[in-house]
Parts: sequence; structure tokens; C-alpha cells
Amino acid sequence: MDTVETKDFGTQPIVHRDCPHCGRDNDAVVPSRYSHEPWHIKECAGCGFVYIDRALRYEAQFEAMAWERTTKVEEQRRAELRPISYKASKRTRFRMHLLPKRTMHGYIAGRIAGGNVLDLGCGDGAPLLSFPTSFTPFGVEISSALAAKADTAFRARGGYAINAPCVEGLRHLPEHFFAAASLRSYLEHEADPLGVLQNLNRVLAPDGFAVVKVPNYGSLNRVVMGRRWCGFRYPDHLNYFTPKTLRAMAAKAGFATAFGATGRLPTSDNMWAVLSKRG
Ligand SMILES: [Zn+2]
Repeated sequence: MDTVETKDFGTQPIVHRDCPHCGRDNDAVVPSRYSHEPWHIKECAGCGFVYIDRALRYEAQFEAMAWERTTKVEEQRRAELRPISYKASKRTRFRMHLLPKRTMHGYIAGRIAGGNVLDLGCGDGAPLLSFPTSFTPFGVEISSALAAKADTAFRARGGYAINAPCVEGLRHLPEHFFAAASLRSYLEHEADPLGVLQNLNRVLAPDGFAVVKVPNYGSLNRVVMGRRWCGFRYPDHLNYFTPKTLRAMAAKAGFATAFGATGRLPTSDNMWAVLSKRG
């Protein structure tokens, strides 16, 4: 098995990934110019999906490379790489904050008054705890420490959190149980995003929906900033969705995708989509 030296976590084994959308092995495909050794970003020759074709083991992907920590390392890396661009991107962020703030709470509580709601990659549970008490919070979280914290908080509100990888956690949840699900800054980290969406479909009620927030690889900023685009994180962002490829993967999992008027603006680094079960 191949290994990689990480700055913070020593030697870690790495595993090959076929295209997470169509299953094609893109080993022979030339890595894109956005690659950052040893992480190769590939565009699937079969379906066009963009992804890193290798990953750390699942646990290491989520737990050892804690998100906050990687964010800091990445910010530092970008700052060292090009100080001027870094400042520009901070200014861009400031400008974005002048727009009305888009929130998961707004997306979900704006559509339904209450019900069982599931947060994939729920962390310590904080995001769902801000919902009205008419919502019963549930979650799946790979980090044991964070899952335990979320579980305690969710149980006080009638729900619970499962400590597992998402695909496995979803298998333990009851069918048609959830009114809504939150996938916030999560699907880009997931080694098996299609498997997650397929299992999510099963646990959502027939009129249930999932709200997805992911970096938009189709954004103008990615083109302008190149490798310094904030959506690139090596290797913890494994999947690089565009509105088109997110819709295609969601369709394969039985969802219809709606972006609304502002969910996929090319001027934003992220996109927001509402996935509804068909029929
Ligand atoms: Zn593919």
C-alpha cells in the first residue's frame, strides 16, 4: 500500500479511488493543473466528474485531519504561496458578507415547521441545536469525541447521534424517518458521496428533502485563482462538484435537484441545492 508523509500525523496509508460517480478507474488520465503532489485532481474520462483519485483511510480523512486544523494549514499555505492573492481573497470574503447570509436553518426551517432532521457530519451538534424545538435533531459523525457530545445534546431534545462513517450510520437509521437532512460542507469530504446519497434517499420521508452546501468547482473564482482557490484542500476535499455533476449524482441516487435563483451563482465559491425525492 502507498503511504504519504503528513506534517501533523506521520506516515498515513493512501487508497486509490475510482470515479465516485460512475466507478471508472482514471489511473491513466493526466492529473489536472490543480493537482498538488501527491494529490492528483482528475476529470473522469467517462462522466466528467472532478475528484482526487486517492485518499487517506476513511477515519484519517475525517478524524486525524480535523477540518478546522486543515483549514488553518491551508490558509497558512495560501498565505505563504501568494500573499497578495491571499489578501484579495480575504477582501472577496468580506464582500460576500455584505450579501444576505444564507443558512441551513433558513433553508430547512423556511420550508417546514418541524419534524425529524438529520445532520450528516454533525460535529458536536451545534448547528441543529439552533433549530426551533419543533425539530428533533439526529446526526452521524465519524469523530468519537464530537459524536458523544452531539449525542448527549440531541438526546435532551428527543433525538440521538451515531458515531460511524456516514454510509454505515445511515444504514442504522429507520426508513422514511426524516423530514429533512443537512449536508453542509460535508459531501466534498466524503469518499463515497453517491453511496451516501443513495442511503440518504432511503431514510428520508417521501416528501423529504436534503439541503446540500458544497464548494462550486464551476465558480469564476476557481478560474481566476487557479490552485489558490479556497475550494481546493489537499486531500480533505476529495470531490469537486459543479452544478451539473451534483445534479447528475443526485439523480443517480433518486433525487431531483433545485438550486433556486441564487444557489449556484458563478460569483460565489459555494453552491446550495435542495434535493427532493422523486415521485
Ligand atoms: Zn466518472
